[in-house]
Amino acid sequence: MEQIKLSQEVNLSAIVHGMWRLPEWNLSPNEIIRLVEECVELGIDTFDHADIYGDYMVEELFGNALGQAKTLNQKIKVVTKCGIKLRSKNRPDHYIQHYDTSYDHIIWSVENSLKKLQRDNIDVLLIHRPDPLSNPEEIAEAFTKLKKEGKVKEFGVSNYLPHQFDALQAYMDSPLVTNQIEISVAALQEFENGAISLCQEIGIPPMAWSPLAGGNIFKAETHRFLTIKNVLHKIAEQYGVSIDQIMYAWLLKHPANIIPIVGSGKIERVQSAVNALNIDLTTQQWFELWVASKGENVP
Ligand code: NAP
Repeated sequence: MEQIKLSQEVNLSAIVHGMWRLPEWNLSPNEIIRLVEECVELGIDTFDHADIYGDYMVEELFGNALGQAKTLNQKIKVVTKCGIKLRSKNRPDHYIQHYDTSYDHIIWSVENSLKKLQRDNIDVLLIHRPDPLSNPEEIAEAFTKLKKEGKVKEFGVSNYLPHQFDALQAYMDSPLVTNQIEISVAALQEFENGAISLCQEIGIPPMAWSPLAGGNIFKAETHRFLTIKNVLHKIAEQYGVSIDQIMYAWLLKHPANIIPIVGSGKIERVQSAVNALNIDLTTQQWFELWVASKGENVP
């Protein structure tokens, strides 16, 4: 599988695997190792995390498993995030869900993630959500220290609008390498709010979370989702593939080098995402899905 270059130091696989739902999969440490091995065999060597996933438990579940497979742990790349503070039994001092992008919290959170993941470094650290109380100068200072110490190779953001991205970039010594945003046939907002255009302007790949709309397309409980699903079926039949493959192919056709993050623990569904790399949708098929999602023709 192609590697997408984020910087001189970091490449990510063209498809990334996401660990948000790991607790739902009920995997033993050996099964986690097996899933990671199978992903690597398919060419997916990058795994997406966040400190808060699984109520602050996913990094540890993953790290405890991969700690028993040290060679594999060294082979893979890890993206993780910080900046959200959840109300949780694991964080009894948080009485309200809030953001914290202070220097001290970023440093503490990375050190904690490294311990839990049982790694010496993180390939890419993202600020999980734009923080209305953020001080970009302070975030940049934390990033500089973490990079100098070799704890984080590169930095990016998630769910940032272009002006929020620019405000942070202005204080940084090195370029932000990605913006992880929600993009799917059912989530078009990032095409229209400037986030994808900014990535194209500065030549960085966006990472797409919930590329299958969090599974909601399959359930198709609303008229809109049903309309999209019907068009997906029509196109999938033309290629003789499943509709999830068309959803991935729709993202992969975009010239911004969108990196989909697969959210399933079932290897056959991961394989589907990989197969989508071979599907080249026509421009009209791409727009058929756009129109189905928007509910109106392009002007
Ligand atoms: P997704 O691929 O849109 O949704 C995954 C869901 O779809 C799972 O419940 C999966 O069920 C279901 N699914 C997949 N294929 C299916 C099929 N053929 N039929 C029926 N159901 C199917 O991705 P996601 O999990 O929402 O997000 C992916 C990753 O993005 C996360 O793991 C996380 O790393 C990242 N993320 C980031 C943010 C952020 O703010 N930065 C937010 C959300 C997510 P099964 O488990 O049964 O396969």
